[in-house]
Amino acid sequence: IEAVPETGSTNADLLARLPAGELAGPVLRIADVQTAGRGRAGRPWLSAPGASLTFSLAWPFKGPLQRLAGLPLAVGVALAETVASLGVPVQLKWPNDLMKDGAKLAGILVETGTAPDGVLWAVIGCGMNLTMPDEMEARIGRAVSSAPWLARMDRDELVALLLSRLAAVLAEFDDTGFAPFRERWNALQAWRGQPVNILDHGAVRQQGLAAGVDDAGRLLLDTPAGTVAVLSGDVSLRLA
Ligand code: ATP
Repeated sequence: IEAVPETGSTNADLLARLPAGELAGPVLRIADVQTAGRGRAGRPWLSAPGASLTFSLAWPFKGPLQRLAGLPLAVGVALAETVASLGVPVQLKWPNDLMKDGAKLAGILVETGTAPDGVLWAVIGCGMNLTMPDEMEARIGRAVSSAPWLARMDRDELVALLLSRLAAVLAEFDDTGFAPFRERWNALQAWRGQPVNILDHGAVRQQGLAAGVDDAGRLLLDTPAGTVAVLSGDVSLRLA
């Protein structure tokens, strides 16, 4: 476990160490604040000292790579169940966000790489808003949420609880893939049964009623033409 006061991105830090074979086993890197935190497709993830929990966990997997498509969802289950057990009920927005009171509380970013010995690694990043300074909310420019209740906890204790459930989920996921987590994910799904749009670079690509995910973590949409499965790729989900 590495704790640093500040870094650009904990995901970037760990990914940079992969090609040189510098990761011998799982590493958790946690920063009080990130100056270049990122979400999917290079979108920014903002944090502020004392207000945010930002960490990344590098973890080796048996693979194959395609199986890791469901990993962000399994990670979401681990984080959401932990946070809920601490008295903060949250929901999961496909594919990679934790929602509280209808707005984003935390984001998950999974990036992968291969070490020189051929081992497949995932670097699993999480940014969670403990509190939300007005100035940060203004910069994000959309509805966000925070969990002041968690902010009052001892940070090391909070991280330990998140990490222990996450490690258990990752070990199981490596053996089984996403399928055994499907019902747990569906039980926590945000916007279940509600009309949603799938946005691809800002344009509506698909519409339907949100109907859970399948065994691979694809979003199921009920449409007039039947049920369709949506791969995450770089698409965004919005309420219609
Ligand atoms: P979308 O939210 O559009 O569906 P996404 O879930 O893939 O896409 P990410 O790329 O994971 O989003 O996260 C980046 C986005 O999250 C940013 O574009 C910004 O809108 C939002 N964001 C950035 N920082 C925060 C934060 N601290 N809390 C909540 N949302 C944030």
